[in-house]
Amino acid sequence: MREVKPRTQPRVQPSDVRSRNFDEVITGYTSLNALAEAQRCILCKNARCQAACPLGNRIPEWIAALQQGHIEEAYRVIRSISPMPELCSRLCPQERLCEGACALGIKHEPVAIGLLERFVCDEWRQMAHRDGQDSPIARTSLSKRVAAVGSGPASLALAQSLARDGHAVTIFERWPHLGGVLRWLPRFKLPARVLEDHLEMLGRLGVKCYPNTEVCWIESLVTDEGFDAAFIGIGAGRPSVPELPGATLDGVLSSTEFLVRVFYDAQQLPNDWEPITDLIGRRVAVLGGGDSAMDCVRTAIRLGAAEVTCVYRRDEANMPGSKKEVQAAKEEGVRFQLLASPVAFRSTDARHVSQVECLRMELGDPDPSGRRAPRPIAGSEFPVEADLVVLAFGYEVEAAFDNEHTYLMAPPRGTVKANPETGATPLRGVFAGGDCVTGANLVCMAARAGLVAAQGMRRYFAGEPWERLTT
Ligand SMILES: Cc1cc2nc3c(=O)[nH]c(=O)nc-3n(C[C@H](O)[C@H](O)[C@H](O)COP(=O)(O)OP(=O)(O)OC[C@H]3O[C@@H](n4cnc5c(N)ncnc54)[C@H](O)[C@@H]3O)c2cc1C
Repeated sequence: MREVKPRTQPRVQPSDVRSRNFDEVITGYTSLNALAEAQRCILCKNARCQAACPLGNRIPEWIAALQQGHIEEAYRVIRSISPMPELCSRLCPQERLCEGACALGIKHEPVAIGLLERFVCDEWRQMAHRDGQDSPIARTSLSKRVAAVGSGPASLALAQSLARDGHAVTIFERWPHLGGVLRWLPRFKLPARVLEDHLEMLGRLGVKCYPNTEVCWIESLVTDEGFDAAFIGIGAGRPSVPELPGATLDGVLSSTEFLVRVFYDAQQLPNDWEPITDLIGRRVAVLGGGDSAMDCVRTAIRLGAAEVTCVYRRDEANMPGSKKEVQAAKEEGVRFQLLASPVAFRSTDARHVSQVECLRMELGDPDPSGRRAPRPIAGSEFPVEADLVVLAFGYEVEAAFDNEHTYLMAPPRGTVKANPETGATPLRGVFAGGDCVTGANLVCMAARAGLVAAQGMRRYFAGEPWERLTT
């Protein structure tokens, strides 16, 4: 019997230190630790981890290279599949994807695939900065002009894939900076430098970017503006906001507004959004139990809030987000009011929020999502004192492209209609992918959708009939 060593622990900032800074919580593996962890992998032939990765990352192949100490080869294998491993290794919920499927994990702790991938990417980044990698591929008469609308991971993956073929890709983004949601994720999850490096790499590949540019008529890109194809990667950026009494009081913000005001470049914020630089002495309530709620509570703690409370309507076992994030938030001092749902926002001066009125809940039978549905307990009202309330109830697709809306967006959720095998939409030459097609999802799923649409465009450029791409 082969002895299985325990999972190698990375360096982690202690909770009392990390709750006072925005540096990454996990500071990574040393070379020795990475080697030790790589050696735990049993290199399965029918790798379940690879099958569970939305991108089909050839995990055993690069871990085998790492076991031999061949970091560049490991990176080459990862990059042959994944367009943004330095981002996915930090952001993917590996416990639900590759690590959740790890064969070793049936009896032992799974291999730390995410941490190993991050180690390989970080090491390679250091080497690549010395050598200067990635340059534009020569354009030929076969090169096409492609427009990508939105600059989140879906468009970034598409742009990279097509630019590597020699196509001329232009990204249009309505915000002043590129990256979509990645731009305002908490830095303790994704350091700004990692995203900047990725965007610089795309720049070296010749991808052109137009920030501050909102596209309102998608078809005109292909009919009037001379693009051979267009990609819709506009995400699902509209926060779901419940209609509760007092929701318009000062101090009640959506999770997007909160995170953008903390993490976005202060000079570039919309006029009515002041940057949030500290919350010293403030009482913050974050409503919702998903990953974006955890991002908000952990950000509020780091900004010095006196009290941070997460209010969620189900129990901990039925929380939708990552268990790791919930655990980290608890360690950092976040309080949880579980089985509780907000019913109104109250104010002592009729202007600024001072309290969230909540109702206790109990769990009934499973709903269509498979989780037990919460039911209010009559007469159980209780207050949560708060002078800043962040609504983190999820995201919806924003209605876009007014005059083309009825062709493109499918009721009832308003997601963009696209063939999942090709990304082709009902509009000829227009493809789509990412959160705007699936609803709010994951970075790796958006990246995969960008790659699928890039492949659909290749077939379109090769003359395949539009009808075949859409059916
Ligand atoms: C707070 C939060 C935390 C998250 N944490 C994680 C995580 O840890 N791990 C994970 O895997 N996923 C996470 N996600 C989900 C992930 O960020 C998304 O699934 C992913 O970013 C979707 O990528 P996308 O390219 O489809 O769209 P987005 O990233 O939403 O980008 C769309 C872009 O399109 C732009 N745009 C919209 N309309 C137009 C227009 N008409 N013209 C020009 N530009 C336009 C928008 O401004 C935006 O920049 C999180 C999401 C949120 C909100």
